[in-house]
Amino acid sequence: MFILNLKILILMKILQKALKLSYDRFKPNPFQRRYHYAIAFDGNKPICLSQNNPIKINAKALRMGERFNLPKYKEFPFNHAESHLVSKLLDRYNSIHSNWTLVVLRINRKGLVMMSKPCENCDKILKAVGLTEVYWSVKDNVFMNNDQDTIVIDSKKFSQYSVV
Ligand SMILES: [Zn+2]
Repeated sequence: MFILNLKILILMKILQKALKLSYDRFKPNPFQRRYHYAIAFDGNKPICLSQNNPIKINAKALRMGERFNLPKYKEFPFNHAESHLVSKLLDRYNSIHSNWTLVVLRINRKGLVMMSKPCENCDKILKAVGLTEVYWSVKDNVFMNNDQDTIVIDSKKFSQYSVV
Protein backbone atom coordinates (compact mmCIF):
# COMPACT_ATOMS: atom_id res chain seq x y z
CA MET A 1 0.00 0.00 0.00
CA PHE A 2 2.77 2.40 0.94
CA ILE A 3 4.58 1.82 -2.32
CA LEU A 4 1.38 2.27 -4.28
CA ASN A 5 0.64 5.55 -2.50
CA LEU A 6 4.17 6.78 -3.06
CA LYS A 7 3.83 5.99 -6.76
CA ILE A 8 0.58 7.92 -6.91
CA LEU A 9 2.13 10.88 -5.11
CA ILE A 10 5.00 11.01 -7.62
CA LEU A 11 2.49 10.74 -10.44
CA MET A 12 0.49 13.65 -9.02
CA LYS A 13 3.66 15.75 -8.96
CA ILE A 14 4.47 14.79 -12.53
CA LEU A 15 0.99 15.68 -13.78
CA GLN A 16 1.09 18.96 -11.87
CA LYS A 17 4.45 19.89 -13.40
CA ALA A 18 3.29 18.85 -16.87
CA LEU A 19 0.29 21.16 -16.59
CA LYS A 20 2.41 24.07 -15.41
CA LEU A 21 5.08 23.59 -18.09
CA SER A 22 2.40 23.41 -20.78
CA TYR A 23 0.52 26.50 -19.65
CA ASP A 24 3.85 28.36 -19.40
CA ARG A 25 4.29 27.72 -23.13
CA PHE A 26 0.67 28.15 -24.16
CA LYS A 27 0.46 31.04 -26.63
CA PRO A 28 -2.73 30.79 -28.65
CA ASN A 29 -2.66 32.08 -32.22
CA PRO A 30 -5.39 32.45 -34.84
CA PHE A 31 -3.99 29.66 -37.05
CA GLN A 32 -3.97 26.85 -34.53
CA ARG A 33 -6.85 25.18 -32.74
CA ARG A 34 -5.15 22.34 -30.89
CA TYR A 35 -2.12 22.83 -28.67
CA HIS A 36 -0.57 19.50 -27.72
CA TYR A 37 2.33 19.24 -25.30
CA ALA A 38 4.39 16.16 -24.53
CA ILE A 39 6.78 16.04 -21.60
CA ALA A 40 9.17 13.23 -20.68
CA PHE A 41 10.01 12.69 -17.02
CA ASP A 42 12.89 10.80 -15.48
CA GLY A 43 11.47 10.11 -12.04
CA ASN A 44 9.69 13.37 -11.27
CA LYS A 45 12.21 15.47 -13.19
CA PRO A 46 11.12 16.85 -16.58
CA ILE A 47 13.87 16.11 -19.11
CA CYS A 48 12.33 17.10 -22.43
CA LEU A 49 9.31 18.98 -23.70
CA SER A 50 7.83 19.40 -27.14
CA GLN A 51 4.68 20.64 -28.77
CA ASN A 52 2.81 20.05 -31.99
CA ASN A 53 3.05 22.23 -35.03
CA PRO A 54 0.18 21.70 -37.48
CA ILE A 55 1.17 24.78 -39.51
CA LYS A 56 4.68 24.14 -40.82
CA ILE A 57 6.05 20.92 -42.26
CA ASN A 58 9.21 19.71 -40.59
CA ALA A 59 12.20 17.70 -41.82
CA LYS A 60 12.43 15.84 -38.51
CA ALA A 61 8.79 14.80 -38.74
CA LEU A 62 9.54 13.37 -42.17
CA ARG A 63 12.55 11.49 -40.79
CA MET A 64 10.40 10.02 -38.01
CA GLY A 65 7.96 8.85 -40.69
CA GLU A 66 10.78 7.15 -42.55
CA ARG A 67 12.45 5.69 -39.48
CA PHE A 68 9.23 4.17 -38.10
CA ASN A 69 7.69 3.51 -41.50
CA LEU A 70 4.59 5.63 -41.05
CA PRO A 71 3.15 6.64 -44.46
CA LYS A 72 1.02 9.39 -42.93
CA TYR A 73 4.05 11.18 -41.49
CA LYS A 74 5.89 10.83 -44.77
CA GLU A 75 2.98 12.39 -46.62
CA PHE A 76 2.11 14.97 -43.93
CA PRO A 77 5.36 15.69 -42.05
CA PHE A 78 3.99 17.91 -39.30
CA ASN A 79 5.24 17.59 -35.76
CA HIS A 80 2.90 15.84 -33.37
CA ALA A 81 3.93 16.55 -29.78
CA GLU A 82 4.72 12.88 -29.04
CA SER A 83 6.62 12.04 -32.22
CA HIS A 84 8.59 15.28 -31.92
CA LEU A 85 9.39 14.46 -28.30
CA VAL A 86 10.74 11.02 -29.23
CA SER A 87 12.76 12.62 -32.01
CA LYS A 88 14.27 15.09 -29.52
CA LEU A 89 14.95 12.38 -26.94
CA LEU A 90 16.73 10.25 -29.54
CA ASP A 91 18.82 13.25 -30.65
CA ARG A 92 19.72 14.13 -27.10
CA TYR A 93 20.17 10.76 -25.39
CA ASN A 94 20.58 8.36 -28.31
CA SER A 95 18.37 5.84 -26.55
CA ILE A 96 15.08 5.86 -24.71
CA HIS A 97 14.68 4.50 -21.20
CA SER A 98 11.49 2.53 -20.75
CA ASN A 99 11.12 3.78 -17.17
CA TRP A 100 10.68 7.37 -18.32
CA THR A 101 7.16 8.68 -17.96
CA LEU A 102 5.43 10.58 -20.72
CA VAL A 103 2.63 13.07 -20.21
CA VAL A 104 0.63 14.34 -23.16
CA LEU A 105 -1.93 17.04 -22.89
CA ARG A 106 -3.96 19.31 -25.08
CA ILE A 107 -5.13 22.83 -24.44
CA ASN A 108 -7.71 24.43 -26.71
CA ARG A 109 -7.62 28.03 -27.85
CA LYS A 110 -9.75 29.07 -24.88
CA GLY A 111 -7.21 27.57 -22.50
CA LEU A 112 -9.18 24.48 -21.49
CA VAL A 113 -7.58 21.07 -21.11
CA MET A 114 -8.97 18.58 -23.64
CA MET A 115 -8.62 14.91 -24.63
CA SER A 116 -5.09 14.17 -25.84
CA LYS A 117 -4.86 10.42 -26.34
CA PRO A 118 -1.89 9.77 -28.65
CA CYS A 119 -2.99 9.13 -32.24
CA GLU A 120 -2.47 5.73 -33.85
CA ASN A 121 0.85 6.72 -35.48
CA CYS A 122 2.38 8.32 -32.41
CA ASP A 123 1.23 5.31 -30.43
CA LYS A 124 3.23 3.09 -32.80
CA ILE A 125 6.34 5.21 -32.24
CA LEU A 126 5.92 5.18 -28.46
CA LYS A 127 5.51 1.40 -28.43
CA ALA A 128 8.47 0.92 -30.80
CA VAL A 129 10.80 2.84 -28.46
CA GLY A 130 9.40 1.12 -25.37
CA LEU A 131 7.64 4.06 -23.72
CA THR A 132 4.67 2.49 -21.95
CA GLU A 133 4.25 4.81 -18.97
CA VAL A 134 2.12 7.28 -20.87
CA TYR A 135 -0.53 9.55 -19.40
CA TRP A 136 -2.78 11.81 -21.43
CA SER A 137 -5.29 14.44 -20.52
CA VAL A 138 -8.98 13.60 -20.84
CA LYS A 139 -10.39 16.92 -19.63
CA ASP A 140 -9.69 19.41 -16.87
CA ASN A 141 -7.99 17.58 -13.97
CA VAL A 142 -8.52 14.13 -15.48
CA PHE A 143 -5.81 11.92 -16.99
CA MET A 144 -5.76 8.37 -18.30
CA ASN A 145 -3.09 5.75 -19.08
CA ASN A 146 -2.68 2.63 -21.20
CA ASP A 147 -4.14 0.46 -18.42
CA GLN A 148 -7.33 2.55 -18.64
CA ASP A 149 -6.69 3.96 -15.15
CA THR A 150 -8.38 7.29 -14.62
CA ILE A 151 -6.39 9.73 -12.51
CA VAL A 152 -8.22 12.70 -11.10
CA ILE A 153 -6.22 15.58 -9.73
CA ASP A 154 -7.15 18.83 -8.09
CA SER A 155 -5.05 21.27 -10.05
CA LYS A 156 -5.86 24.10 -7.66
CA LYS A 157 -4.58 22.35 -4.56
CA PHE A 158 -2.77 19.33 -5.98
CA SER A 159 -3.25 17.74 -2.61
CA GLN A 160 -6.40 15.79 -3.25
CA TYR A 161 -6.53 12.95 -5.67
CA SER A 162 -8.25 9.72 -6.36
CA VAL A 163 -7.62 6.84 -8.68
CA VAL A 164 -10.74 5.21 -10.04
ZN1 LIG B 1 0.15 11.88 -33.12
